[in-house]
Amino acid sequence: MKFGTKLIHSGFEGDKATGAISTPIYQTSTFHQENIDGHVTYDYARSGNPTREALENTIALLEGGYKGFAFSSGMAAISSVLSIFSAHDHIIVPKDVYGGTYRITTQFFSRFEVECEFVDTTDINEVQRAIKKNTKAIYIETPSNPLMKITDIRAIVELAREYKLLVIADNTFMSPYLQRPLELGADIVVHSATKFLNGHSDIVAGLVVAKNKELADKIYFVQNAFGAVLSPQDSWLLLRGMKTLKVRLNYQQNNATELAKWLLLNKFVDRVHYPGMPSHEGREIHLSQASGAGAVLSFEACSTEKAKSFMKKVKCAAVGVSLGGVETIVSYPAKMSHAEIPHNERIKLGIGDNLIRVSVGLEDIEDLIENFKIALE
Ligand SMILES: *Cc1c(COP(=O)(O)O)cnc(C)c1O
Repeated sequence: MKFGTKLIHSGFEGDKATGAISTPIYQTSTFHQENIDGHVTYDYARSGNPTREALENTIALLEGGYKGFAFSSGMAAISSVLSIFSAHDHIIVPKDVYGGTYRITTQFFSRFEVECEFVDTTDINEVQRAIKKNTKAIYIETPSNPLMKITDIRAIVELAREYKLLVIADNTFMSPYLQRPLELGADIVVHSATKFLNGHSDIVAGLVVAKNKELADKIYFVQNAFGAVLSPQDSWLLLRGMKTLKVRLNYQQNNATELAKWLLLNKFVDRVHYPGMPSHEGREIHLSQASGAGAVLSFEACSTEKAKSFMKKVKCAAVGVSLGGVETIVSYPAKMSHAEIPHNERIKLGIGDNLIRVSVGLEDIEDLIENFKIALE
C-alpha cells in the first residue's frame, strides 16, 4: 500500500460484530475475563484498549516501525520515552528543542540525574564532540522550531551507530507523510499528535513508534506503569483526523509555498524561514530526507513595531500557540513559546522580537495573502 491508502485502510478492518466501518469507541475501563488463567487480550484499559490499539497500529504502519503507543499528550509521549533511561545516562539534545522538552529535561529528569546536554544538532562535529562514555542517545527535531533549522538525520544515525547510541526523532513538524525517520535509521519516533496528525485543533495527544521489539517492550512497560495513556474518545478523534493527513498537508504545503514566496517580496518583511525556499540553509539535506517542506514557516518583519501591529491586525488566522490545524495559526515566539528564555539568549538563538511563526491552514490562499497584506501595511 502507498501512504494515502495506508491512511484509510490500516489499523482496523471493520467491526466483526456489526460491520461498522468506523472503529468503535470502546469506552470501558475493564474487560470481562472468560478464563482466569491470565491469558486474555484485554484486561484493564490502561494496559490496552481496542480503540487505542487501532490508533497505535496505524501510527506504527505509517512510520514503518514495530509498534506504536498512544499517550495523553506529546509531552507525555516524550516523557515516557525519556523514562526508559536511568540515572547518569547522558542524552544529547538540540539547543533549540521544543520548549516543553527543554523544561522536562532541565527541571524534571535532571532531578533523577538523567544528564541532558544541549548542542547545535545541525553541526555534526558539535554532536560528536558532545559524546561521552555514558552517552546513550541523540535526540533530534528537524525542521526545528521556529527557525526551521535542518538536522541531517542520516549523518546523526551514522554517528549514533558508530558509538552504539539510540536516535530519537521528534517528527511533529513533518508527520510520517513527509518524513519517516525510522526508515532513515532512527530508533524511536515521537509525535505531538495534537498538531498535524490530528489536524483539527481539538485534542491534545502524543504518539511514539519503536523500531524493534526490545525498545517496544521498554516503552510498553513505561506506558503501562506510568499510565499517561490516551482516552478511547481522543484515540477515535485522532484516527478520524489522520485519515485526511495527506490531503490536508498537500493543500497546506501549497498554501505555505505561495505565502512564503509572497512574504519574500513584501517590503515590510526582512527574512523568510521555510525549507521550501531555495535560499533556506539545509534545504538540500531536508529534501534528501523528507518529501516536502511542510506547512510551518516563520518570517522576520522589518521592525518589532511592525511585527506587533501585524499580530494585532491579522485576520483569517488564529493568534496563539500550537500548529498543524486546519486554520492558519500565527504566533509570536518572543512573547509566547520562547518567552521564558532570557532576552539576550533568545536573540543569540535568532529568535528576535520581529519574528512571527505561521502554521498555514486550509483557507483559500488569496484570502490569506490579502489579509496578511492589510495586516502588514
Ligand atoms: C507541541 C509540540 C510538542 C508537545 O506536544 P503536546 O501535545 O503539546 O504535549 C512536542 N514537540 C513539538 C515539536 C511540538 O510542536
